[in-house]
Amino acid sequence: MSDNRIKSIVIVGGGTAGWMAAASLRRHFHKLPIDITLVESAEIGTIGVGEATIPTIRRFYQALGLTDLDVLKATQGTCKLGIQFRDWNAPGSSFIHPFGLYGQELRGVGFHHYWLKMRQAGKAADIGQYCLGASLAAGNRFTTPSQNPPSTLSIFDWALHFDAGLFAQLMRKTAEADGVTRVEGNIAKVHQRAEDGFIESVELSDGRIVEGELFIDCSGFRGLLIEQTLKTGYEDWSQWLFCDRALAVQSVGTPDPPSYTDVLALSSGWRWRIPLRHRFGNGYVYSSRFIDDDAAKAELVATIPDRLLFEPRPIRFTPGRRKKTWNKNCVSLGLASGFLEPLESTSIALIETGIEKIKQLFPDRRFDPRVIDEFNDWSQREFERVRDFIILHYKAAQRADTPFWRHCRDAEIPDTLAHKIESFRSRGHFIRYRWEMFQPASWLAIYAGFGIMPEDYDPAVDVLDADGLARSLEEMRRNVQAAVESAPTHQDFLERFCGPYLPDAVKEMA
Ligand code: FAD
Repeated sequence: MSDNRIKSIVIVGGGTAGWMAAASLRRHFHKLPIDITLVESAEIGTIGVGEATIPTIRRFYQALGLTDLDVLKATQGTCKLGIQFRDWNAPGSSFIHPFGLYGQELRGVGFHHYWLKMRQAGKAADIGQYCLGASLAAGNRFTTPSQNPPSTLSIFDWALHFDAGLFAQLMRKTAEADGVTRVEGNIAKVHQRAEDGFIESVELSDGRIVEGELFIDCSGFRGLLIEQTLKTGYEDWSQWLFCDRALAVQSVGTPDPPSYTDVLALSSGWRWRIPLRHRFGNGYVYSSRFIDDDAAKAELVATIPDRLLFEPRPIRFTPGRRKKTWNKNCVSLGLASGFLEPLESTSIALIETGIEKIKQLFPDRRFDPRVIDEFNDWSQREFERVRDFIILHYKAAQRADTPFWRHCRDAEIPDTLAHKIESFRSRGHFIRYRWEMFQPASWLAIYAGFGIMPEDYDPAVDVLDADGLARSLEEMRRNVQAAVESAPTHQDFLERFCGPYLPDAVKEMA
């Protein structure tokens, strides 16, 4: 029997995607005779943004043997309980999309039905008050979730904000310690097999050749292998997502960072503010159809209360995805595979799931087209689900004071999303497709935050008498409130867990 096993993997690019893939695949194939080489160019550098995550990142680094403390300390990280959306409905409006559940089911009926009935009767508080994750974030508190939650009311999860450069360094250290070979250099040529176009090697500008059997393209937006070499094609989603530019800038930090990402609606897009221990990451994601770069810069700078560490840096992008994430013997990850704006911090999560898919569908040297098709099908669905979730925010936002927001309100949306929204509106149902990254609680957070609610609640709710229901809801609200009050502030938690805030380090950086 001939040995068709892959013996060499070449990863092109040493940003977050490249080093995450290197660390994770090396650990997965521990001790197996598979060489993993990563080629990166210090001269080209990395995108240097990508600092807010979702909770799956913790499972990712834990599988590499890293603890929360390791990562928080190594990356100047802070804890993230969710995202605060401000001014998306009207000036001064705000709600939190938490990583947590709302209330408790009663008699097998979803909490939102009970809440809706009592809300209509004027007897229920804001839905966030029945969610521990959202309430902790609103109070700028933080504690780790109970391992043994006494009820669904105590269930929440958390993620991290981290310095993207430091996180890539941590991944590099882990990967190199496990045996990944790093090659520094600028790839000038890509060599393909004459008969079928499969990639054989990459050639550096100094003439060195790096050969491989499986190539993973983590070269960023340029897609050096997947696009520039293999001409795979890109599915452009600009008809649904209108933002195509970003300005990114860092500013001095605070000893008291929030335990959430702040996302503020601006005239032609939105501004992120990501708290780290040593600084903030800020940026404006906007549509060049509705605002020019200078006006966007002025608008961004006006929203940042602290001193900037450098001039805002422009980034251009096209929302969409590579037509095939995997083409021939090349799999793309990270920005090389496509881009969805970071409104829900999904890009790094898509890198994680991309790596998982590579492991699950790991090919041999015959590169069975069925395996490749399966991979591409999974990737496409997953990207589309995230795309729909992001579009929901723009479609549902009640803001209509600028041409950009009116355009978003009036725009067509994909049928898959329209079906979801209508199902929720008519009967309070959550439609779940395969490869959904966001669970019903997240959809509920966004629906409720933007005022999309079922036309009527589930009739089974009326089985419970209204007074009993009001008492149950009030008890849930009080339990959440008590848990919030007993939790430390986020600042206290970080100081206890990671050590004191170091203003000198901040001064040095500034
Ligand atoms: P890059 O960081 O661009 O790395 C590309 C690598 O390829 C570099 O090492 C480069 O040197 C190398 N390379 C390229 N060409 C060559 C060559 N010819 N020879 C040798 N090496 C080469 N994601 C989130 O999850 N959360 C967020 O909050 C978030 N915010 C974002 C904000 C913005 C404005 C943008 C644009 C993206 C954001 N992302 C976010 C996405 C996130 O930044 C990326 O998914 C992540 O950084 C991975 O990037 P990458 O590794 O694919 O590419």
